[in-house]
Amino acid sequence: MGKSSKDKRDVYYRKAKELGYRARSAFKLLQLNEQFHFLDDPNLKRVVDLCAAPGSWSQVLSKTMFKGIKESEVTEDDERKIVAVDLQPMSPIDHVTRLQADITHPRTLNKILELFNNSKADFVCSDGAPDVTGLHDLDEYVQQQLIMSALQLTTCILKEGGIFVAKIFRGRDINLLYTQLGYLFEQVICAKPRSSRGTSLEAFIVCIGYIPPKGWQPKLDENISVQEFFQGLKTDSKNQPRVIERYYEEERNIAEFMSCGGLQSFDSDATYHYDVVAALSDVSLDPVQSPTSPAYKKDS
Ligand code: SAM
Repeated sequence: MGKSSKDKRDVYYRKAKELGYRARSAFKLLQLNEQFHFLDDPNLKRVVDLCAAPGSWSQVLSKTMFKGIKESEVTEDDERKIVAVDLQPMSPIDHVTRLQADITHPRTLNKILELFNNSKADFVCSDGAPDVTGLHDLDEYVQQQLIMSALQLTTCILKEGGIFVAKIFRGRDINLLYTQLGYLFEQVICAKPRSSRGTSLEAFIVCIGYIPPKGWQPKLDENISVQEFFQGLKTDSKNQPRVIERYYEEERNIAEFMSCGGLQSFDSDATYHYDVVAALSDVSLDPVQSPTSPAYKKDS
């Protein structure tokens, strides 16, 4: 696929290059924010971007939190900090501290807390996606595990009342995830930005108002599985945690579904001609950021 044909086919891919974003996913976070305004809170200080490479969500976070302020202009006592974590190396972004690490490993949690001087985060987002194998059942399972790992880490670093936003795939077991999230957050919404293709199962959970059950002390431990970690999650009427292995039909939490991005924004499943999209020129653009360690440079 030549870059100019891809530019023509996908308006968000093209727009990302025009605006200097490293990936088209930037628009997903921007459109989610248009709907929920979580990044417009002036009290937002500590933010974590999980599975962040190549870094377009971090670019959005940096731009919205530091609006035009250069890194050299930030004072020592400024508490605002963005930590971006990924297995892959990431090129620098102003105001973003990069951490090359695995979000499923307990050591990563400690490193993030260290960077925040042991204060908790106000906002955590995750756009994680594992490498796909093509075996659908296996891919769905690994993706599900990655979401649960992101949630697990989030329960240990998010402050009470904080917000968690993550990419999900609306597969067969999605109701169990909504139910688990319902025990942890005041509001759980499943949102689909216009920049996310309608043909894809991809959506985003926006979880507002973190309320860890009283007495539940989430702790990451290499030797316990994600399932074991969440076993103490369900609470009884006195808000005391008790063990659950499954949920019952009457306890099922169905997340509200919301489309966001506005009808005036581009439809990611449509094909636009350059003439229609006035802001776009017909010149082919180079990628915003070259790969940090491309495969063609290895072993040569
Ligand atoms: N939000 C990013 C952006 O806007 O540029 C795009 C994220 S990309 C779709 C998914 C990322 O998840 C990949 O960079 C991959 O390395 C990362 N990832 C997958 N598993 C991970 C893990 N266990 N720990 C950290 N990162 C992981």
